[in-house]
Amino acid sequence: MKITDIKEARVSIASDIANAYISFAKMDVSILAIYTDAKVDGRQVVGYGFNSNGRYAQSGLLRERFLPRLQEADPASLLDDSGRNLDPFRVWDTLMANEKPGGHGERSVAVGIIDMAIWDIVAKVENKPLAQLLAERFGDGEPDARVAVYAAGGYYHPGKEIQGLQEEMRDYLEMGYVATKMKIGGVPLEEDLARVEAALEVVGDASRLAVDANGRFDLQDTLDFASGLAPYGLRWYEEAGDPLDYALQRQLCEHYAGPTATGENLFSHQDVRNLLRHGGMRADRDILQMDPVLSYGLVEYLRMLDELHIRGWSTRQCIPHGGHQFALNIAAGLKLGGNESYPRVFAPFGGFADSTPVEDGYVAIPAMPGVGFEDKAELMKVFNAHL
Ligand code: MG
Repeated sequence: MKITDIKEARVSIASDIANAYISFAKMDVSILAIYTDAKVDGRQVVGYGFNSNGRYAQSGLLRERFLPRLQEADPASLLDDSGRNLDPFRVWDTLMANEKPGGHGERSVAVGIIDMAIWDIVAKVENKPLAQLLAERFGDGEPDARVAVYAAGGYYHPGKEIQGLQEEMRDYLEMGYVATKMKIGGVPLEEDLARVEAALEVVGDASRLAVDANGRFDLQDTLDFASGLAPYGLRWYEEAGDPLDYALQRQLCEHYAGPTATGENLFSHQDVRNLLRHGGMRADRDILQMDPVLSYGLVEYLRMLDELHIRGWSTRQCIPHGGHQFALNIAAGLKLGGNESYPRVFAPFGGFADSTPVEDGYVAIPAMPGVGFEDKAELMKVFNAHL
């Protein structure tokens, strides 16, 4: 088989939400279709990819650097030993030729978009859901039938702060979620604690509510919030300080007994290794949120899991950032601890298949080959309109 065409486009996912660090008013994503000459059940195999929210479209890197490498490669060099399917690891090596180590920047996002489309192709050629393929190749053969998801939101609602937050949390519960997350760090500690208490009135048990500072805090704020939050016993305290400040993370873990979470802004297995070496993270409670798309794709994510394995961590401590079908398949196939979800925002890229609604806090994997994009009508409309 060989790749016959590649199309790429930039699509807006602008919204009026903001976290403690950024506004999403100009947010966009890259979308990608890789066409092949392979056919399954008489239909041409096409793989789709896009980047997770929060990093911008990667059109320049894709068009000028990474897609030409793929298109200029000897087609046979991209295949597995059977010669009838792509090998994601060989594709990855081709993409990363002549790239220096370190300085991951956002090239990891561009490579991750391509990687998503490649895995979609590989699973379609094998005529299996990606989760099933991953369980067979890298797991114990059987994927989880369903994945725990939580509703990440809890944005600031200027003008109706408490009421707006409670309405949002109530909405998530009505949609089938049992666990939620809210932003902190956009207002002073006392105001945020009042927001946390308001959210708890709706969500109930504190084990169902996480908080996320989006890397906003310095060490003093990190520890002040840790002291303020500790009595509640929340689900976790996420990304207190800068994602690469491992000493800050270590001090947080020394001062905060409850679970902490971080990793969505680590883009390489080397960064994950350093977090585990120096960040004081505790394998029995802390949560790792690396995003397989933003960080060079699933090929690199598997290397991250190797770093965890070496240090005695379970994959169940991983709950990826991203909130889409690709991460959901990875969570099911590699038996992670769950998956993030962003109800009502970042559509149609966020969210899961049309046939698998959230039920009791879980989402099932549809029984269709590949990532399952074809079971998400609004997303296919975007792909078909632009690619
Ligand atoms: Mg976060």
